[in-house]
Order: sequence, then C-alpha cells, then structure tokens
Amino acid sequence: MMIVPPGSRIGIVGGGQLGRMLAMAAARLGYSCYIYAPEASGPAADVSAGWTQGGYDDASALAAFAATVDVVTYEFENVPVAPLKLLSQRLHPNPAALEVAQDRLVEKDFVARLGLRPAPYRAVDDIAGLRAALAELGAPAILKTRRFGYDGKGQARLHSADDADAAWKAIGGRPAVLEGFIRFDREFSIIAVRGADGAFATWNAPDNVHEAGILATSTVPAGALITSQAADAVAMTRKVADALDYVGVLTVEYFATADGPVFNEMAPRVHNSGHWTIEGAVTCQFENHVRAICGLPLGSTDLAAPRVEMRNLIGEQANDWVAILADPTAHLHLYGKSDPRPGRKMGHVTRLIGA
Ligand code: AMP
Repeated sequence: MMIVPPGSRIGIVGGGQLGRMLAMAAARLGYSCYIYAPEASGPAADVSAGWTQGGYDDASALAAFAATVDVVTYEFENVPVAPLKLLSQRLHPNPAALEVAQDRLVEKDFVARLGLRPAPYRAVDDIAGLRAALAELGAPAILKTRRFGYDGKGQARLHSADDADAAWKAIGGRPAVLEGFIRFDREFSIIAVRGADGAFATWNAPDNVHEAGILATSTVPAGALITSQAADAVAMTRKVADALDYVGVLTVEYFATADGPVFNEMAPRVHNSGHWTIEGAVTCQFENHVRAICGLPLGSTDLAAPRVEMRNLIGEQANDWVAILADPTAHLHLYGKSDPRPGRKMGHVTRLIGA
C-alpha cells in the first residue's frame, strides 16, 4: 500500500461523532479531513476542512468527492456497498467488510465458517419461518432484522411461541435472524487494528454494560471472567481481520459465557466501546485507524492508566456537564448535537483512575 503522508487529505463517509473524533485525531498527525454525508451538517462539521452533502447511493457524487482526497474511509456502516466498491484502492477498510457487517445473516455465516461461535441462529423470511425457527431453537429467543439494526433497534424478544406474531410485527416483517438467547455473565469487545502489512494489535478488552440496548459504560481492565477469555477472543478477531484483508480499526462484540466467548456482532469501524482509548491508551483507536489507512506504523495500544472508565451521555444526561466538570480529572466529550432526544448519544466522559 502506498503511504499517504501527513499533509494529505482524508475523506470520511459519514459525519457523526465517530467522524468528529477521527478528524480530530487525523488533524494531530497533520492530515485534514473532508466529510461526505447526506445531511447538511453534523458532529464532524466543526472539526473538518470541508463537507460535501450527497446521498450514500449517489455513485457519481461519491466518486467526484473521492477524487478530491488522497484516501477514503467510512465511519458508518449502513451505506450501500456498490458506490463504495467503485472507489476500490482508495478506500479502507475494503467494502467486503461492510458487505459482511451490514447483514446479520451473512455476518453470522461468515464468522461461523471461520470457527467463531455465534449464538444459535436461523434465517427468518416470513411468519411460518419464524414459527419453524422458534420450534428448533426454543424460547426465549431474539428476533433481529438482518439489516439496519443498531443500539437494540430492529429487535424483539420472544418469551414463548405465543410471541411470534407480535415479534414479527414489531420488527416490521422484514428479513430477519432468530437467535437463541445466550445466558451471558458479562459483555465485552475486542477493538483491533490491522495495518496494510498485516500488523495487528488490540486494546485491553473493555467490560461493556448496556442499558436499554445502548452502551452505557466501558471499563478496563475488565474482571477475571473477561480477562480469562480475552486471548481467545483476540485470536478470533484476528481471524476475521485477516480473512477480510482488513485495514483499519475493527470491533467485535462478545458475550462472556461459562463456556467461553460467544460472538455477538462486528463493526467495521472505530467503536463506542473504544472511546476510552482517547485518554486511556498510549495511542487511541481513532489515531491508529488513521495510521492504518494511511500506511503509517501503528502506535502502542497499551493502557495509559491502571484503570479507565468511560460513561456515555445519553439524551438529557449531557445536560449534567456542570456536575461532570466539578471533577477536575473528568475528560468530558460533547459531540455538538443540539437536540438531546432520548436514546441519542450526546457525548461521553472518561476517567483515568490511579494514574
Ligand atoms: P445487539 O444490537 O445485537 O448487540 O443487541 C443489543 C443487546 O441485546 C446486546 O448487547 C445484549 O445485551 C442483548 N442481546 C443481543 N443478542 C442477545 C442474545 N442472543 N442473547 C442474549 N442477549 C442478547
């Protein structure tokens, strides 16, 4: 891969908070970032050099945008793959990763082939298929749409076979996957970075706590259960990254169960459960993503403090910034979103403990 030297232009498809944090890390290394997104503005606008408004499915607008920058990446995975495929060499990670991560069925088939262990699952295309899948997997179970699901959206829990009709209706009767319910003790993620030369590194595996399907906190180091399963999960994550010839940051979420790590889902990008790395690691996920897509050597992923805690500020919680700043050691991040809708990620706060 060609080196894209500092001073070059990075194009980012998507203009949310991940783009914002990528652009800030890129600026530190001397790059300038240009955003392509369908909205008129967004969290990345304040910290980037330019903003092009265009549809994710507008192949010619996207190609014209790509021609003005030196390398392109994406911070959002629900983007049609075909227009991105046309950018080929200039785009990292390669769109094969998007193709896999956009569809829960494709994703589970893919990781199962690599020897990872997803929850037991069945494809569901109609209500009869749902009843058949439920008879095989048993209740409780979770029905998830194959596409466009995140933060617990597009999901319905089934406590018994009687819930089939309501669950099918709740997810809008769209192609789905039924998953057996996993009795897990903790949830964690492996945030990994892979360079074009195959160099591979991971950060300390955070213990992730979700509330109402949304990440609430990530803490490192995690407790004994996760720590004892992290090496296995790192090896699994590396298989995924290698199989996709991945360049950039890749995140895989796992359930820590009594029988070892169970694959939950992957994201072909920097991840909310890695925001603690901004202050809590020698090199953060955003900087290492930039280094990887530009062909630079990766930075150390070591911890920068004995313990690091990241808490998301969801909806109105961001209004607590006065109280948060009363702790002079708190690292407050606000994403510049004006409307604190319930469930919306408005910012996060990180604390380094024992540093
Ligand atoms: P997801 O969007 O698939 O990550 O699901 C959101 C949250 O729902 C997860 O973080 C888990 O807390 C829970 N969940 C998802 N799938 C399962 C499963 N198969 N068994 C138990 N809990 C699950």
